Amino acid sequence: MNIVLLGAPGAGKGTVAQELVAEFGFAHISTGDLLRAAVKSGSDLGVKAKSYMDAGELVPDQLVIDLVKERLAADDAQKGFILDGFPRNTVQAVTLDSELGAMGNPLDAALLIDVDAKVIIDRLSARRACRACGYTGTAADEVCPKCGGEMYQRDDDKPETIANRLDVYEKNTSPLVEYYRGQGRLDVVDGVGTIEEVHDRVKEALHL
Ligand code: ADP
Ligand code: ZN
Repeated sequence: MNIVLLGAPGAGKGTVAQELVAEFGFAHISTGDLLRAAVKSGSDLGVKAKSYMDAGELVPDQLVIDLVKERLAADDAQKGFILDGFPRNTVQAVTLDSELGAMGNPLDAALLIDVDAKVIIDRLSARRACRACGYTGTAADEVCPKCGGEMYQRDDDKPETIANRLDVYEKNTSPLVEYYRGQGRLDVVDGVGTIEEVHDRVKEALHL
């Protein structure tokens, strides 16, 4: 099954993806994770992407599109994938449809994780990530519960940047909800609840 996850920053796309991967083994393609890995490695792409990411702006389409194309061509993506953080605007969505069409591996569903703006701001301010494995937790996690690694606050989860990311989401990404609704591919789940509750709603929505 090929799935696109939609939802504001902090809606829980990464967590929903992790749960689906754990149960069904789909390939998890997170452009945020791919870009953060590129920044960490100091690659050309990472150097180009960093300033946009720190400001909460979108990285230029062509950079992200190339990254996703390469990832979609990998073996593990042929048995089903979850795209998390891509597409983030209409150009990316249209490009994705035509790439997947050419590969003969179209999308099955676009799943919107619906969370109220107030909840989003609280979640992002409290969010912490593991430096070692990328696990996403909260300020209450002193060390990573998965691997014992050091937890840190992403630069783009600082209050100055959060407001900008939410603006960028509203302007660029939220129109995709109508784009996928128009294709008859949209499913919506309530993203407020425990990890397990949300996972159950996701499975129901996707008939998994
Ligand atoms: P979020 O928590 O905002 O969903 P992500 O980890 O998905 O964060 O993305 C972090 C940053 O990486 C974004 O703010 C943006 O700068 C960049 N980024 C990720 N995916 C894309 C994309 N599809 N197009 C452009 N920029 C992207
Ligand atoms: Zn960890």
